[in-house]
Amino acid sequence: MIPFIDILAQRKAYKSEFLKAEQDVLDSGCYIGGPVVQALEAELGQYTGAKHVITCGSGTDAITIALLALEIKPGDEVIVPDFTFIAPAECVMRLGGIPKFADIDAETFQISVESIEKLISEKTRGIIAVNLFGQCPDYKKIKECARKNNLWLVEDSAQAFGATQDGRQACTFGDISTTSFYPAKPLGSYGDGGALFTQDDDLAQKIRLIANHGSGKRYVHEICGMNSRLDAIQAAILRVKLHHLDDELKMRSNNARKYNEFFAERNNAADGANGAKIVPQKIASGNTSTYAQYTVLAEDRETFLKQLANAEVPFCIHYPAPLHKQPCFKDLVQDNANTSATEASQKVVSLPFCAFTDVEEIIARLMSGM
Ligand SMILES: *Cc1c(COP(=O)(O)O)cnc(C)c1O
Repeated sequence: MIPFIDILAQRKAYKSEFLKAEQDVLDSGCYIGGPVVQALEAELGQYTGAKHVITCGSGTDAITIALLALEIKPGDEVIVPDFTFIAPAECVMRLGGIPKFADIDAETFQISVESIEKLISEKTRGIIAVNLFGQCPDYKKIKECARKNNLWLVEDSAQAFGATQDGRQACTFGDISTTSFYPAKPLGSYGDGGALFTQDDDLAQKIRLIANHGSGKRYVHEICGMNSRLDAIQAAILRVKLHHLDDELKMRSNNARKYNEFFAERNNAADGANGAKIVPQKIASGNTSTYAQYTVLAEDRETFLKQLANAEVPFCIHYPAPLHKQPCFKDLVQDNANTSATEASQKVVSLPFCAFTDVEEIIARLMSGM
C-alpha cells in the first residue's frame, strides 16, 4: 500500500544523522530545553528572519500562548477562517473568546479579506490567518485591514514553515506567528512540538514567561502560565530535518508539478468526454507552497473517491465540513453563509504527498483505472 505520507522513507534517507543526534541527546542528560533546543531556536530564527523564536509543546499550544500574550479577554471576537483545522477557533473559544468564521477564496482556499472586513465589529480584537495547505493568504491586504481597524494578527503557519510570499518567509507576517512540529507537518518531529515567532521584544518576553509557568526566574511566577516546552530529542530531530528542508521543498514542488500536469491533461480529455473536472488548489502568484497537503477540488467527488479506492491510492478529506458546522460551535451565531468554505468541504480530496512520494506510480495507477 502506498503511504499517505512516507515518514519512514525520510527516516531512512538521513538515518545516520538521526541516530547520532538522538544518541547525543540521550547521552547528554538534558532532555527538556537546554543547548539543543536553544540551537534549534537560533536556526529557526536564521531560516525565517524572525527576531525571536520560542519553542513550545505543540502548534495548538503556540496559538493559545499567542492569544494569552495578546491578552484576549472573555467576549473578545477573533476572526478565523471557516475552512481549516479546528485549532485556531478552538483556542479562541477555550479562552472565552468568540471565533467569527470568515469565508475563503474559492480557488486558493485561503481566508478572504473581503469576508474578514464584513465580520469586524466593535468587539473584534484580532485575526488569526492560516497558511492553509502550505501557502500564505494575501498578507498585504490582511495586514492593511488589521492596521486600519487596530486589530492584532496571528499567523498560523502550522502547515507552511518554509513557504514564502513575495520573497518573504512564512512565520514573519503576524504580530505573532506560530507553527507546529506534529510529525505529518512539512517540518515535523517525532512527537508533539511547536514554536512562536515575533519581532516584538516585549511580546517575546511575555511568550517565554507564559510557556514556562509564568516564570523567568526560578520559582518566581510573575503570571499564571502553563507548561509548554519542546524536549531536546524533538529539537535534535528537527535540526537534522531543517538542514534538509530546502531540498525537500524542491522535491515537494516537483511532485506537485507532476500531479498538476496529470490533472491538466485529464481535464482536457474530460472536456471532450464531458467528464467531471479535478482542479488542484491554485497557488497564488508571489507564493511558494510547502504543499503540506496536495489538495484538489473534484466536481464529482464520489466517483473520484471510488477511482482512488479501486487504484489502491489512499486519500484524506481536509476538511469535511466548514468549522461553523462543527457541533462544538453550534451555539455561536453564524450570519454569513460562507459558500466557498462549504463548497470546498464538499469537493476537496487530498492525495498522498511528501518529498518521498512516488507520484509517477500513483499517476500510473490512476491512468489504468480512469
Ligand atoms: C496541525 C495544525 C495545528 C495544530 O498543531 P498541533 O501541533 O497538532 O497542535 C494548528 N493549525 C493548523 C492549521 C494545523 O494544521
